[in-house]
Amino acid sequence: MAGVYIHVPFCKTRCAYCSFYSTTSEELKDGYVEALCREMAGRQRQAVATVYLGGGTPSQLGVNRLQRILSAVRAHFAVAADAEITVEVNPDDVTAELAEGLAEAGVNRVSMGVQSFVDEELLTVGRRHTAEEACRAVGLLHGEGFSNLSIDLMYGLPGQTLESFARSIDEALNLPVAHVSSYALSVEPGTLLHSRLRQGTFRETGEREMLEMYNLLRKRLKEAHFEHYEISNFALNGYASRHNSSYWDGTSYLGLGPGAHGYDGQRTRRANLPDLKAYIAAADDVPHQLEVLGDDELYDEIVFTRLRTTRGLRLAEVPADRRDYLLRMAAPHVAAGRLSLTDDVLRLTPAALFISDGVMADLMAE
Ligand code: SF4
Repeated sequence: MAGVYIHVPFCKTRCAYCSFYSTTSEELKDGYVEALCREMAGRQRQAVATVYLGGGTPSQLGVNRLQRILSAVRAHFAVAADAEITVEVNPDDVTAELAEGLAEAGVNRVSMGVQSFVDEELLTVGRRHTAEEACRAVGLLHGEGFSNLSIDLMYGLPGQTLESFARSIDEALNLPVAHVSSYALSVEPGTLLHSRLRQGTFRETGEREMLEMYNLLRKRLKEAHFEHYEISNFALNGYASRHNSSYWDGTSYLGLGPGAHGYDGQRTRRANLPDLKAYIAAADDVPHQLEVLGDDELYDEIVFTRLRTTRGLRLAEVPADRRDYLLRMAAPHVAAGRLSLTDDVLRLTPAALFISDGVMADLMAE
């Protein structure tokens, strides 16, 4: 069964580090929902196991629009009775009304962009909420019956130290959350943080300190019985994200909304163009691009996605004519303890998780 990803391209304000496609315009929200329902109607009906509303900030749409979108998803696709339905929220949008509305709409997983529990750090990167608001939001959702709650934490934020990151991890673990995603700050061109970097008013955290933060994260979450199931994702038993896991195991997923990406599970990737006005104006098929993966790209894709998880890369998943090449490229890393090869499954070792990009780059097609 497929997954459905819906990109909601609205944010109240833009965060200093963000390069995702979104707008702060208010007036296009209804037009967007209309166009989204139209796009769904034009897609082939299929069985769906996971639905994920991400962004942008889905919670900026408000209860009624979110309920309308989820009704349309159920009307157009055969959504499994036990489907995982996730909505991303920002803490300052969470009210009792929103929590209740999400539950009524059948949402059973909420992912919250907290990023830090230190107010000064949140302020520096333009997040709108405080640590207290994040705790209150988790409490409201949990009180509404949401047990599958995920929060995002970032490391490498301006002004963040190992000690302040430890406080954020501990705060997260004091809350009733079952899943934590944690990403290193990456300074992307076009962001406010990138300008600050060029102006010299912001200095990136050094690699050694980043590694210390990542190791601390892994240690604290392990002590709290979270399984480290993907490079940046940790979950209590039974709470790994089914939707995100489908990105890493090659399951097909539809991408709906401007800027959304989809994959047919074989060789075709589809990207809706990140242009909200053109998306709303499109009468028929929305503006998009298709990419058909060649043999090299398909091999790279399999290696890059499967190795991200602790499940690892089964050699049987690799096209037969590429296995010798893969094993030859992997051999130095196996010898150095950065990869393990057991029962024909290749995995990153814990020591290599932080430098996974470099290891995987060495395995890519020539
Ligand atoms: S980080 Fe999230 S809330 Fe901030 S601008 Fe990006 S999508 Fe919007």
